[in-house]
Amino acid sequence: MKSRRTFFKILAGTVAFILPWTILPKYFGQKVAYLLGEPPAKILLPAEAGQNLPKPSPEVFARKAIDDIRILSSADMQGRRAGTAGETKALVYLQEQLEALHLKAFGDDREWQTFSIPFMEERVINGRALFRPDVSDSLRMPAANILAGLTGKSPEGTVIISAHFDHLGIYNGKLCPGANDNASGVGCVLEVMRRLVKESGTGTRPRINIVAAFWGAEEMGFLGSQYFVKKPTIPLSQVKAVINYDTVGNGEKKDFILWSTGDSPLINSVKKAVQKNGAEIESTAGQGYNSDQISFAGTGVPAVTILSKEWLAKNHTPEDDMSLINEEKLETACNILYDLIKEMAY
Ligand SMILES: [Zn+2]
Repeated sequence: MKSRRTFFKILAGTVAFILPWTILPKYFGQKVAYLLGEPPAKILLPAEAGQNLPKPSPEVFARKAIDDIRILSSADMQGRRAGTAGETKALVYLQEQLEALHLKAFGDDREWQTFSIPFMEERVINGRALFRPDVSDSLRMPAANILAGLTGKSPEGTVIISAHFDHLGIYNGKLCPGANDNASGVGCVLEVMRRLVKESGTGTRPRINIVAAFWGAEEMGFLGSQYFVKKPTIPLSQVKAVINYDTVGNGEKKDFILWSTGDSPLINSVKKAVQKNGAEIESTAGQGYNSDQISFAGTGVPAVTILSKEWLAKNHTPEDDMSLINEEKLETACNILYDLIKEMAY
């Protein structure tokens, strides 16, 4: 009698557990995923993506960082403020550049990784325009990162080369073109990817993946890179390093500075590449300023940001335009990034 009762109890318990899943499997599945924490990042490593496509045209390879800066800082891009049409125009431009190189998409919706940002208040502090989140307003606006890369012989590792593409937009009724901050960093990353793809056409393939990441909403507090760290489209355990470029196009040809998330062999590799190009780099603290490398602190992924030593000149003002860019400096910055990636990923 007693064992019979136990049997029915177990049966009733089992039915009660299974029933909701049968009726609403999706809902309960989501609940369980929620209780177990974030699902693991999707692994988007292709077999041989894009291998059968025709080679990119010679015009694609002829483009230089300065060409990208000219386009991204033109009035047409409206200063690339996150959450605006100017940002979308910049994203479309970046997507076109990456697709012309037949790079593999590493976002969660092709190259794009979308997220949302709060409304922002405009502030001017020490002559620099800045954003502060408008906490009184719960409405949010869309923004995005964009990621694509070259696949390595082994899919086990990835080096990310990155730059934020957003800027201040039209601020106080004036266009802030953001040629140096940070169309210059974006141009360098694109130019280096073009060189690497051109070489891969002659059979030189990287040992590990090289992913170009263009972060959105950096000017609003590193929101794009923070989102990536929270919801990585490449498992962070696979990422060997993040090399971030921010505001690298102005000032003395040989002078750079470095911000990092801590001590790592990556810093020595950077110094070596800088030296090889007859330049100098100084590790400094941000003195209240920061860039997207900070989002990777505490993740175990070594991350650095490389900047021009004079990066603050005309920064966050309408005068950050093409006239601020020193083409020789830009070329040195591209060569440093190229040498660094050759050492780390080949
Ligand atoms: Zn900035």
